[in-house]
Amino acid sequence: MKTEERTQLQAAITELRDEIEQHDYEYYVCSEPTVSDGEYDEKMRRLIALEKEHPEFYDPHSPTQRVGSDLSGNFRQAAHAFPMLSLGNIYTEAEVREFMEKDDCVLVEPKYDGISISLTYVDGRLTQALTRGDGETGEDVTANVRTVRTIPLRLWGTPPQTVEVRGEIVMPWKEFRRLNRERERLGEQPFANPRNAASGTIKQKSPRTASHRKLDAYIYQVTGEGLPPTHSGRISEAAKWGLRTAEPIPCHNTGDVLKAINRWDAIRKDYAVPTDGVVIKIDSLARQEQLGATGKTPRWAVAYKFQSEQAETRLLSVSYQVGRTGAVTPVANLEPVRLSGTVVRRATLYNADTIGKLDLHAGDRVYIEKGGEIIPKITGVDRDARPAGAEAVVFPLRCPDCGTPLVRPDGESTHYCPNAAGCPGQVKARIEHFASREAMNINIGPETINDLFNAGYATDAADLYDLPVACLRRMDGWGENNTRNLRDSLAASCRLPFERVLYALGVRYLGKTAAKRLAATFLSIDSLVGASFASLTSVDDIGERIAQSILDYFADEENRRLIERLRSAGLQFTAEEKEPADERSEALAGLTFVISGVFALHSRDEYRLMIERAGAKVSSSVSSRTDYILAGDNMGPSKLEKARNLGVRIISETDFLKMTGGEGYEQSV
Ligand code: AMP
Ligand code: ZN
Repeated sequence: MKTEERTQLQAAITELRDEIEQHDYEYYVCSEPTVSDGEYDEKMRRLIALEKEHPEFYDPHSPTQRVGSDLSGNFRQAAHAFPMLSLGNIYTEAEVREFMEKDDCVLVEPKYDGISISLTYVDGRLTQALTRGDGETGEDVTANVRTVRTIPLRLWGTPPQTVEVRGEIVMPWKEFRRLNRERERLGEQPFANPRNAASGTIKQKSPRTASHRKLDAYIYQVTGEGLPPTHSGRISEAAKWGLRTAEPIPCHNTGDVLKAINRWDAIRKDYAVPTDGVVIKIDSLARQEQLGATGKTPRWAVAYKFQSEQAETRLLSVSYQVGRTGAVTPVANLEPVRLSGTVVRRATLYNADTIGKLDLHAGDRVYIEKGGEIIPKITGVDRDARPAGAEAVVFPLRCPDCGTPLVRPDGESTHYCPNAAGCPGQVKARIEHFASREAMNINIGPETINDLFNAGYATDAADLYDLPVACLRRMDGWGENNTRNLRDSLAASCRLPFERVLYALGVRYLGKTAAKRLAATFLSIDSLVGASFASLTSVDDIGERIAQSILDYFADEENRRLIERLRSAGLQFTAEEKEPADERSEALAGLTFVISGVFALHSRDEYRLMIERAGAKVSSSVSSRTDYILAGDNMGPSKLEKARNLGVRIISETDFLKMTGGEGYEQSV
């Protein structure tokens, strides 16, 4: 070979290795792949072929030499009993035929698209759950896996004393859509696909988060003493132990396999969980053992990948949308193109990094793909078709709506416009959120909000409650019906419970569930405004991030003014009484309490409830109107001094319990 040729070959191999490494990083570490699985596999195949043809370029660090690693370092690591392998991919009938030459007793199973997991049961009890990791070592995610309802903590029947089952943890489509809707509402980045969502959930540090997301699991491999000698036999055993298993279709020739593939391809769109192909496996374990594995993949099984639906079109422009939290999201405007039955005009670009990674230029030919999400994404660019002199797409430095310089918080991939109060995009998005169905359910759409905002009639949510009739009449296309509907829905919104109002305010990160909890715990906006960081985080579901965001929200005078105006408009800022009326008393009617310090017998929230049920008020700071301070340990010295100066009575928790009739007192002492 000529030196020149050698250098070129070497360069080609190095380039492929670098590219694949980059893709591995994006896929496994960032959970944000930028190429389709098909493209990735194609590159991998080219590299494998080149390396095979030219063994002189062997490199132990080549990506062909290992299974991609997803070790995050956040969990205890443990070695696998035997390697967790990946699967080779095939795409064509010819390749199916070739595989069938190895053995004619195979099974076709769906290839579940999630995160692989190894579960160990000892004496029928789940003792350990490991991720694939780098194939040799995985991460111990048992705590999170325990929250998956279809993974039994105890097996039924008579499994071997120690049994290891492997399978895939997946996020059902329905749950994926629900989660992404919730994340969008909270101003968080939606997951790109259910696989990332499943993997992100299993690698959460807090099992509580995992338990709120309904994951599912399918078992596709079973090992242990004394089990049947076939894959299908073992799968039916595992089903008897109460595990949810893959459903293997037995096949004996290429025709059967193709039929099974087509059957799965046809039903996958309506299937509850995501699948991205089928796995063809040889049934006999003896034959499996005989065939063994090549470094990365077993020889006795292969994945037939469904073609993901792709289309090619042209990038017309990129627009930037400002959300209610100030997050700026780039959106690609495309030349309309048909893709899986719908006409696509827009694709999400997520953030500045995505634009950079794609190396997007104006007028580029782009490939788009639907990964199950409603809005498709751009998976690649045809650089060869790029017009000469095309300009690179650059993420703006300033807010497209108000011109304020954008900021990007450390460790986040999102840019924000910091001008919360004055940015038209954010103001309109906040009103839209307030009016949305799950918030105050007001009959008004984004266009009308936009028109009202531009005309100066609606600059915040409270303005909706005193729109002059004349301004509505002038609205384009508005008739009497629209006006009546709007008025009716505004009136109805005044009857919606406090938890809905709290959610409608649009405090960053404060979702519906958390709003509900806060409403049930603090019972009124006033006690919530006075709540400390510690009392907020002591509530279930309220983490530090939400707590801080709530404090920031109420610290802003503008927000407090908005609340007052909404209150005068008639919205509910106190929770309705859930307790039966006889639990209420007037024992402490008219008195004002301040709660301070740490208590031994009840939590602060419980004391707050007791005080309010006895007809008294709880206030957050000591003033001349304070009647009693309910003091625990470690009461702040400044409060103590202020109380003494004002002559406020300080009582202990036992004093208080006696005072309120002693029921709680007797119970606790
Ligand atoms: P890949 O990650 O694309 O190389 O595909 C290999 C992975 O497919 C395995 O590690 C499993 O997690 C997953 N998989 C999904 N369904 C099955 C199945 N029925 N049998 C074997 N592996 C499966
Ligand atoms: Zn702005």
